[in-house]
Amino acid sequence: SNRLKGKRAVVTAAAAGIGRACAIAFAREGAAVIATDINESGIATLGKDGVAETARLDVRDTAEVNSFAKRVGKIDILLNAAGFVHHGTILECSDEDFDFSFDLNVKSMHRTIKAFLPAMLAGGGGSIVNISSCAALRPPANRYVYSASKAAVSLLTRAVALDFITQGIRCNSICPGTVETPSMLDRATAAGPDGREKFVARQKMGRLGTAEEIAAMAVYLASDEAAFTTGVDMVVDGGFML
Ligand code: NAD
Repeated sequence: SNRLKGKRAVVTAAAAGIGRACAIAFAREGAAVIATDINESGIATLGKDGVAETARLDVRDTAEVNSFAKRVGKIDILLNAAGFVHHGTILECSDEDFDFSFDLNVKSMHRTIKAFLPAMLAGGGGSIVNISSCAALRPPANRYVYSASKAAVSLLTRAVALDFITQGIRCNSICPGTVETPSMLDRATAAGPDGREKFVARQKMGRLGTAEEIAAMAVYLASDEAAFTTGVDMVVDGGFML
């Protein structure tokens, strides 16, 4: 405990799944956490887990992100978790689907990093953690635009890491395998009666990951223990890539 003591953190998409687990883990490690989401009732219950503050934040809205960052000021940790999994090949992906996925999965991170970076730099540095996916490294079937958008997240991460490497900023991504979260379970249900087994089969460990197992990596990257680590994809995948 106290691995993040004295640090101030903003987490996006903190109402559910990986973002929520990261907000809770950051708070447990002593950070002052501002947990955000568009699902206000979802974040409302985070107080009992030690999260200091919650706020409605739509990461697709540039004006909202900018005014939120202005109000919050200096932070030490920015964790970007918002993302959406589109199902299908290029033939099922309309222009609207493509734009939505890139807007929510990639441009959201462009918005939040751009908005928070100036105060982070003025304060002497910080750690940015972006939730990418194993799909960025090896596309699963029927994950055309998801894989392309997560590949962009991983390279956006490296570009930011390089450009600010001498100014105290670290920027890393986490590439989870299949993790049991509300949206993942919805995708399993949509895949039919044996949907869950199909998702488990992608994991060579023979089980789904937990959001807490991803949050453990996020705590490490956010903390000073990772001071020599920047611009990398940390794979936490139960053997998905093997
Ligand atoms: P989830 O998909 O179950 O929940 C996503 C959260 O994002 C919800 O609380 C939702 O309200 C919020 N959200 C949606 N649109 C938003 C917006 N415009 N602004 C702010 N918040 C918004 O959670 P998850 O499955 O843990 O996914 C989180 C991240 O992890 C995503 O980027 C996803 O691509 C990535 N990921 C998930 C898995 C997995 O198997 N679950 C694997 C690899 C990567």
